[in-house]
Order: sequence, then structure tokens, then C-alpha cells
Amino acid sequence: MHVENWDEFDVQTIAVRAGYDQTPEQENSEAIFPTSSFRYESAQQAADRFSGKDAGNVYSRYTNPTVRAFEQRLALMEGGEACVGTASGMAAILSTFMAICEAGDHIISSQSIFGTTKMLFSKYLKKFGVEVTFVSQTDVSEWEAAIKDNTKAFFLETPSNPLTEVADLTALSNLAKKNDCLLIVDNCFCTPILQKPIEWGADIVIHSATKFLDGQGRVIGGAVVGSESLVGEEVRGFMRTCGPTMSPFNAWVFLKGLETLAIRMRAHCENALALAYWLEAHPKVEKVFYPGLESHPQYDLAQTQQKAGGGLVSFRVKGSQQDAWTVIDQTRLLSITANLGDVKTIITHSASTTHSRVSEEDRKKAGITDNLIRISVGIESIEDIKTDLARGLDLI
Ligand SMILES: *Cc1c(COP(=O)(O)O)cnc(C)c1O
Repeated sequence: MHVENWDEFDVQTIAVRAGYDQTPEQENSEAIFPTSSFRYESAQQAADRFSGKDAGNVYSRYTNPTVRAFEQRLALMEGGEACVGTASGMAAILSTFMAICEAGDHIISSQSIFGTTKMLFSKYLKKFGVEVTFVSQTDVSEWEAAIKDNTKAFFLETPSNPLTEVADLTALSNLAKKNDCLLIVDNCFCTPILQKPIEWGADIVIHSATKFLDGQGRVIGGAVVGSESLVGEEVRGFMRTCGPTMSPFNAWVFLKGLETLAIRMRAHCENALALAYWLEAHPKVEKVFYPGLESHPQYDLAQTQQKAGGGLVSFRVKGSQQDAWTVIDQTRLLSITANLGDVKTIITHSASTTHSRVSEEDRKKAGITDNLIRISVGIESIEDIKTDLARGLDLI
């Protein structure tokens, strides 16, 4: 049996089954192809593969069956024509901008993006003559004011990390289209289970597959999804030439991760919402940031744009950095680390870890105060997570 048209299926079903053709061995679980190259039947076939006349496998830097299965599955989940798997989330962002930009181009980016992406823009793209302007995640008029004749693309993540600000994808995609700009969305935090940016008008969707797509903190990888011309040709062309390739083993882990993505996201969101309510009612908590809370400034927008609030909750304790550290140090169950999107709950002090390279002034401006804690809510029992946090909160 072979499904021809996956459009008829829900994203949850696509995540479990799409993108893979069984081999003659009739395996039920996807096979892994750890091979660097492929053998041809003849000199003619080899020539046709290299010229692209025959679309089959050539060399695993840019064609591998396991990586392709992951790419096809994720493309279908995001509703894009093409997908390119990459060695990491950062490789996905780099490959995208190397493929679409040239010296003299200008990019507008939300200021509330992953710190390493900010560094990629302000240090490395700049070196090659691409200029980036950082603007507010939520104020569309700042994006409009920043547009220049040479603006090529808008870039953002939504919700942002760690303060969960929600960007208005419809407003920004309309503005981008009106000005011949591409809208590029890093969909790492929602995944296509909660939000499909292409349906809201985005041209390119980027993933750090390292996070929720794997979901169990095992391997590093990334992906770029978009049109055949932009992603299928341009980004893959960069991959073929420059080589930040996803390994077949990692692609196989991501395929297995995608199979459980829908139920994991449901569990992450359910726990995160319960934790956000509990924290909001806690006397030692000053403020909670979670798009699923009615008190969130973009609650209505999040309700229309996302299927649920996501797995990240941040909060400020009533106190200093020392008090925030007390909450972290009193945990016995939670993982003190800076990763996110894992089935294990993770607790992070953003100001002294992920955002420590940002100047104190910029951190303050961004709201990443010293008393802020970020939780990537896992799928353990919510009561156990609360107990682990209550121990430190009660000491404040
Ligand atoms: C982690 C992360 C990245 C980078 O991904 P890597 O796989 O670590 O290279 C990019 N964007 C966001 C939003 C992330 O959280």
C-alpha cells in the first residue's frame, strides 16, 4: 500500500507515516542508510545523476535516503514544497541566508531572537556585506519604519525565548509581501503541530530539530522548509557546495522523534499551562510569561495563531538573582541546563547563561532581568515538577 496524496491527512498522521518508501525488505520501521556514496548501473547513469537528469542518489552530502525521508515528512507537516535537512539549527539559518543574500542586502530581524542567531547576523553576515536592523518583536510599525530599498528579508521566532512574545505573522507577511521581502520564521518553539507559519504567509520556515523535533535531547540538526525554487534549489545548492549536511543517523533519530511529536507537544503544553497557572498564583512569583495565560499581552493573537501555548514558561521571582539561583539550586528533579524542548523539564537562569554575552543594558531593555527563570516544561508528572520548584520558592 502506498499513499499518493498526503494532503488528505492530518499533520499528526503525516508525522508518523509520511515521506518514506519501504525498501524491498518490507520493513515497518524506517531503515537507516549510513552510506557516503551510491553505486550506478552504468557510466550513463552516473553521468545522468551528476547532471541532475536522473534525480536519484549521488552522494550523501546532498542526497541520502534517510535524510530525504526526514525532509519529505517535515515539508508535508509544514505545508512547504521542499525541505533541506542541515547539521544544526544554526546551519539551517546560515544556509538560508547564504542562499538568498548577497553583499549589499539588508535584513530586518526581531531583536528577540536566539542569541547565537543574533551573533551570526551581527558578526558574520555583516563581514560579507549584509546589514541587519533589529526591531521590536511585537510592534509592526518598527518593521515598517526599518524597510529600505535593499531589504531582502524579515526574520523572527515566535513565541520568543525566554519572554514568549508573540509576533503577528499575518501583519508581518502582508508588510513583507508589499515590499518584496521574504518572511523567514524560526518555528523551533511551536513546531508544525502548534503553528504552520507558511499558512500565515511565511516564505521560509527554519527549525532547530535539536529541540522539540528530536524531543529527547539526543542529536543536533536543523531544517529549512519553503518553495521548490528558494529551498529545493537555492538552499540545497548551498548544501551541495558548502556541506553543512545532516547525518543519516541524526535524520533517523528525527524521523523517530517526529512520530511522537504530536503527543509530546500535547503533553508539554498541558503541563506548561498548568505550571503557568500555578506560578501565577504563587506568592513568591512576581510575573509569569506564557502565551496561554489570559494575562499575556498577546493572548488573543496566540489563541488564533497557535493551537496551544507551547512548552516554555518563564517567570520572575520576587527577589534578586540570588533568589532565582536558590530556586534553581533547590531542584532535585529538574535538569539545570540551557537546552529546551526535551521530555525532561529544564530550568535555566537566562541572564547568566544563554544571554550572558548580551550586555547588561541590552538585557534590561529586553526584559531579561536577573530574577527571571525559564522552564522548558517536560512531560513528567506536573505535581512532581511543582514540588521541585516549590522547595526553592518557599525559601525566598
Ligand atoms: C537552539 C536554537 C537554534 C540553534 O539550533 P542548534 O540546533 O543548536 O544549532 C536556533 N533557533 C532557536 C530558536 C533555537 O532555540
